Amino acid sequence: MSSHFFDGSSPKRYEATLKIRPEGISFETERGTLDWRYEDLIRLWDYRPGEHLALTHGKHQDSRLVIEEADAISEIGQHAPNLVNRSRERLKSVRIAGALAGGILLLVAAIYFLVPPIADRMARAMPWSFEAKDAPELAQLERFIGKTCTASRPNQVLYDMTDRLLAAANFPHPITVGVTNRKTPNAFTFPGGKIVLLRGLIDKARTPNEVAAVIGHEIGHVVNRDHTERWIRNNVLSAATTMLFGFNPTGSIGESLFQSGLALSFSREDERDADAFAIDLLNQLDLDPSGGAAFFKRLSRSGGLGEILPDYLNTHPESEGRAEYFREHGTGTKQALSPADWLILKQICVTTG
Ligand SMILES: [Zn+2]
Repeated sequence: MSSHFFDGSSPKRYEATLKIRPEGISFETERGTLDWRYEDLIRLWDYRPGEHLALTHGKHQDSRLVIEEADAISEIGQHAPNLVNRSRERLKSVRIAGALAGGILLLVAAIYFLVPPIADRMARAMPWSFEAKDAPELAQLERFIGKTCTASRPNQVLYDMTDRLLAAANFPHPITVGVTNRKTPNAFTFPGGKIVLLRGLIDKARTPNEVAAVIGHEIGHVVNRDHTERWIRNNVLSAATTMLFGFNPTGSIGESLFQSGLALSFSREDERDADAFAIDLLNQLDLDPSGGAAFFKRLSRSGGLGEILPDYLNTHPESEGRAEYFREHGTGTKQALSPADWLILKQICVTTG
């Protein structure tokens, strides 16, 4: 058992005689004496009890001091435990890794909690053209939502009713509304202010105000810029996820508004805000909210209205609570359509195109 030294410039192995000191190692070879302070030393590979300890000097990293004497190694360990004591070093790296993971978790939590409220404000500041360019052609959506119902008088009744709601909404960009021939009672809003009601919604509604409440809710999504908000939220979160983890488990960043519109639903807050918006429109026009309330209550009883597309019903599991909300906050008394116009609207899907 001995110690030896390589000077880094020749392959020669020099026998070394050690003196372990509190501040470092002095060792004597045939070339002379060297003083290495512990703080300058780097351990070269893992020391295991009973084996050698190989050290190099931070300023002469080609040189090697290889110590084989167990008592010298343990003495070094008393002065500079980090050079010898493997478990302590491992513990330290575990602590560092833990702190790092904690930091990343905090950052992720901060992003996930802070982005949504910021996205809401950012969305309202984004130009309308940003969203409007992603407006889908309804023909592209036919296989999901059925063909457009084209009966002309019923459509005129629908437009007139929607126009009154839109006038109250006071939104500066065009919003369109249409009905498609699908028997599921549901409604959607697509990027660019396209509102689509499925025929089932008109069929199931018992009063015009039930339809008006749903249209008001969808107008709320448009005015609140919920598509843009969702797009910002999802893209910022997926970019942050990619930056932190080097990959993105939730989908590509280049996802278009339309795709995100199909794939992900609005948040609960968005839904509540859209309801509040609808009630405000009904109140402005003095429209009785109880029809809307009854509609939501009926839907909550029927349940199980799953559709490929999200929104109106899929994202509203608490229809019962919403009915309550409409009843409590609504103040109007009138119906949105005359009984005659209501019967006409019910015929909207007698022709499709
Ligand atoms: Zn909604």
